Amino acid sequence: MDGIIHSIETFGTVDGPGIRYVVFVKGCPMRCLYCHNPDTWLMKGGETKSVTEILDDYERYKPFLKGGGITVTGGEPLLQIDFLIELFEEAKKRDIHTCLDTSGIQFRRNKPEILAKYERLMKVTDLIMLDIKHIDPVEHKALTGQPQDNILDFLQFMEEQEKTVWIRHVLVPGITLNEDYLKRLGTYLAKFRQVKALDVLPYHNMGVEKYEKMGKEYPLAGVPEATKEQAIWAKDIILDAMKEERHRLIEAGEFQP
Ligand code: SF4
Repeated sequence: MDGIIHSIETFGTVDGPGIRYVVFVKGCPMRCLYCHNPDTWLMKGGETKSVTEILDDYERYKPFLKGGGITVTGGEPLLQIDFLIELFEEAKKRDIHTCLDTSGIQFRRNKPEILAKYERLMKVTDLIMLDIKHIDPVEHKALTGQPQDNILDFLQFMEEQEKTVWIRHVLVPGITLNEDYLKRLGTYLAKFRQVKALDVLPYHNMGVEKYEKMGKEYPLAGVPEATKEQAIWAKDIILDAMKEERHRLIEAGEFQP
């Protein structure tokens, strides 16, 4: 089966454990104001590549991919779930570690045939990197153009599937850089034992040039970048809130350590 691919990075160091072969796919239904890959939004204009082509190319770089594997990101990979299932099933046959970097926005439980695809995909996915864009539902819609319900339900599904999840959260001044929201995020995450890591990424405006080239107005013009120090501060707030809430859940008998 073929996927519609934006680009491939053969030495990825931030998209999962180790050094990774990273496949950026085309297509995304979100419109995050801070997106630095607006050129992945539309399916059109992508390069078509087959599962075999990708995995054979992966094998060429295998000696350099220390402790790594393959990561699919985007865009939103779950828009091409049939391709993803085939890619990861074949990758597992070749003993390759698989990581899915997703917003979870496509997840739906109400259609058995779709849920079955997710269950099949999870059998061959070693790690999920899930972006939680904003914990507040109204702010989430304003930031991404989409509701957050399916994303949070996808996190619940990962819990049921006992899949390891790393959460990623982008810290944007004036939007997510807010103590109350960060505490709410930590409190919300406390009940998920499958959440094994948290990455808080400072917002940067490296996407500006792409918007200019595409003739689009940059939505966050004038918003300052977040600093590494702010990201460390924010991560501590989230983790402290998580700890506090988990302690409360244990005391209430609602969480088994
Ligand atoms: S989900 Fe990712 S690719 Fe899609 S708009 Fe948001 S940041 Fe961009």
